[in-house]
Amino acid sequence: MPCNIVIKRLQLKNTWTISRNSSSYKDNVFIKFEKDGCIGMGEAAPNVRYNENADSVVSALQEFDPDKYNLHNFWAIKDEIDLLFQNQNSARACVDMAILDWVSKHHNMPIHKLLGLDVSHVPLSSFSIGIDTPAKMQQIIENNQDKPVYKIKLGAGNDREIISAIREVTDKPVRVDANEGWKSKEYALEQIHWLADNNIEFVEQPMPADMYKEYLWLKEKSPLPLIADESVKKRADIFGLEKCFDGINIKLMKSGGILEALVMIHMAQTLGLKIMIGCMIESSMAISAAAQIASLADYLDLDGNLLIDNDPYQGAKMKNGYLICEDKPGLGIMEL
Ligand code: MG
Repeated sequence: MPCNIVIKRLQLKNTWTISRNSSSYKDNVFIKFEKDGCIGMGEAAPNVRYNENADSVVSALQEFDPDKYNLHNFWAIKDEIDLLFQNQNSARACVDMAILDWVSKHHNMPIHKLLGLDVSHVPLSSFSIGIDTPAKMQQIIENNQDKPVYKIKLGAGNDREIISAIREVTDKPVRVDANEGWKSKEYALEQIHWLADNNIEFVEQPMPADMYKEYLWLKEKSPLPLIADESVKKRADIFGLEKCFDGINIKLMKSGGILEALVMIHMAQTLGLKIMIGCMIESSMAISAAAQIASLADYLDLDGNLLIDNDPYQGAKMKNGYLICEDKPGLGIMEL
């Protein structure tokens, strides 16, 4: 039998603006199936940047029937299931999550234990702040004093005003994400030099994803580490990226789930790339999925659930910037 599929509208606490768009809510898609007495649940956070929306995800998810597969062989059936979701990676992530949730519940253990991972040591996670007026961004910092690391969105033209305002109110670690907003290598380098003088930790995706030649040039000269986000979705994107970037931001919604993310982590580490695990605007369901592999990261940015007002689930919780995974079967989540 196919899965039960529902769209839930997640309301953002603050209007979420990045270099390319702005939104006050996100429509994410949730699945649930029952098989042999256990339930599997998953979430998709579709992203317009990758030609996805709630409707395209729903129609992709309708192709998946859990009864057609031996889910216990989740590695062996991975390639076959991937073929159902060629351009809908968030839908694929949703199914991957639900299968691992189901199998782990069968074994009465959390997903991280099923995968042989210890989650007791994880890096600090950053708290993201979308582009707004410098005064509003200062106010968000004031309201989030408990967060030890901030990730500031840039790339809309007022980068220096924003960072100067942020540095007036905090000396905590700050990383920035330009979301492809800087359109030339010279401009990007100029911005990065200025950011380095303002004690910024690293820069995520300064220029458009397809500017490989410009990235080769920029990495040679950049005083700050460069992290790829839009430039990398799956394993096929990784080879060669070590010449353009210092690290990659892996998100389940881009990779198509935890299993592909594990392969990517091994490949990237072999090439000397740092691992960041990030997220989209997601509920505690998908954040709890990413938390299962968080111990493999050098940097974490798993705050999507903290940016919404009506989280339908409770799961992994942030304590002093550390994402703590529940020691409960499957994803370890509870519907609210
Ligand atoms: Mg990013």
